[in-house]
Amino acid sequence: MSIRMDDRTDGQRDDGMDDRTARCPNAFVTFTCNPQWLEIKRALLLGQQPQDRPDLVTRVFKIKLKELINDIHKKHILGRTIVGIYVIEFQKRGLPHAHILIFFVEDCKPHTVEDVDRMISVELPNPETNRLAHEMVARCMMHGPCGAAFPNAPCMEEGKCKKKYPRKFQSETMMDVNGYPIYRRRDTRHTLLVHGIELDNRWVVPPNVYLSTKYDAHINIEVCNNIRAVKYLFKYVYKGHDHATVEISRQSNNATEGNVVKADEIKKYLDCRYVSASEAAWRIFKFDMHERFPVVERLQYHLPNQQMVLFDNQMMCKKWQHGQPFPK
Ligand SMILES: [Zn+2]
Repeated sequence: MSIRMDDRTDGQRDDGMDDRTARCPNAFVTFTCNPQWLEIKRALLLGQQPQDRPDLVTRVFKIKLKELINDIHKKHILGRTIVGIYVIEFQKRGLPHAHILIFFVEDCKPHTVEDVDRMISVELPNPETNRLAHEMVARCMMHGPCGAAFPNAPCMEEGKCKKKYPRKFQSETMMDVNGYPIYRRRDTRHTLLVHGIELDNRWVVPPNVYLSTKYDAHINIEVCNNIRAVKYLFKYVYKGHDHATVEISRQSNNATEGNVVKADEIKKYLDCRYVSASEAAWRIFKFDMHERFPVVERLQYHLPNQQMVLFDNQMMCKKWQHGQPFPK
């Protein structure tokens, strides 16, 4: 399958860009900045909060992202990879996160449920045998709480959680008819108390326990072995920056009772770009907004004896003035 991948994230296309043949990505990773990282907290001045220092937050995230990409593509923590792409995005409140698509070599693709279980564990680790991992999942990988007790949670839409939490208990990982995995979520009786609600394995967001524990961050990983996921995933990682709709209006003295003021909706409507402080810092530092491995290079090609030749006008004029012939 041939997928054309633009070199820009704003939807514009460089017509000179080369096509690239890629297969379906096998894993989709979302890595989110944790403002509670020690590297950030230690560098804050007295009275400062992480949101006061977008320069610090973005620098630390960039360093950790580089290390994570190194873990995935050089140390092959999840398996030997062949292609990788990542795109940086910023939440409305400003924290950066990266969407990473991973393509494994054939032998390392998660074909079986055992392969999926080795990569992703959607269960609270045992606090007695793996305290660090348990604390990490509790801190970074629990959804909610939401539902009837928290109708104003950001994930709630028309009285339901749009992320479909709490999920059902599941004794074994299985693939549904579309090839999407339904992860194992056994009723292990391990629970957490969050805002007075007891959360169990049904509320865990799929992590890779090793990576999330190492980075102490929300690292959501999903297996996506289905060709149908391609369109969704590439649209998701290349959807571009956030927008904001802004309406500008002026208080009119004529707007008294019974005096109707005509509103020119087209004039007052602005489609604006939303840039948070973190994104501004990221761009000022000239950090990459996206990257891919291996890098694709365009190769020039030509017909016999019609290769491109470049002339320096100034140099040619000087040579002509000194009586030298023009080259053929
Ligand atoms: Zn929810």
